Amino acid sequence: MSMPPSVQSAINAQIKNELQAHYNYLGMSAHFETTPYRGFAAWMRVQSTEEYGHAMKLYDYLTDRNGLVELAAIEAPQMRYGPRPIEVFEASLANEREVTVQINNLYDLAQQEKDFATLQFLTWFLQEQVEEEDSVLLMVERLGLAGDNSAGLLRLDDEAGRRATAGK
Ligand code: MG
Repeated sequence: MSMPPSVQSAINAQIKNELQAHYNYLGMSAHFETTPYRGFAAWMRVQSTEEYGHAMKLYDYLTDRNGLVELAAIEAPQMRYGPRPIEVFEASLANEREVTVQINNLYDLAQQEKDFATLQFLTWFLQEQVEEEDSVLLMVERLGLAGDNSAGLLRLDDEAGRRATAGK
């Protein structure tokens, strides 16, 4: 069964959204490379790679269903942030919450169109968003606890770096 055209174009839009998220995280990583927080830089870079993976998962699904991939332009990401790492993670949390809304809307559309294969496919993304929001929120909360305490911040940076090199 071919895909409803509305679902096809919504999946193309989500490929763009995931690539935008990929680029946003890369901007955050590049920002941290200019600071002593190289663990956060590595963490953001791993996140960036994951987002690229999400885009390609959608891409492969679209081609598997004989849909037409249409790649849209993405915007330049924010590159400059304030000196406090928590600001960057707060921006990341806002992005993740936005992506959750996008995935929910996509799911809603597939439901309206009775596109059952797409509903099944999207459950992985719904679960992934629960995990993404949870891990970024935890980081925001722990950075909030550390406040301006250098030892606390460096400990979190170190931990983030280890998580990144361990492949999560
Ligand atoms: Mg994603």
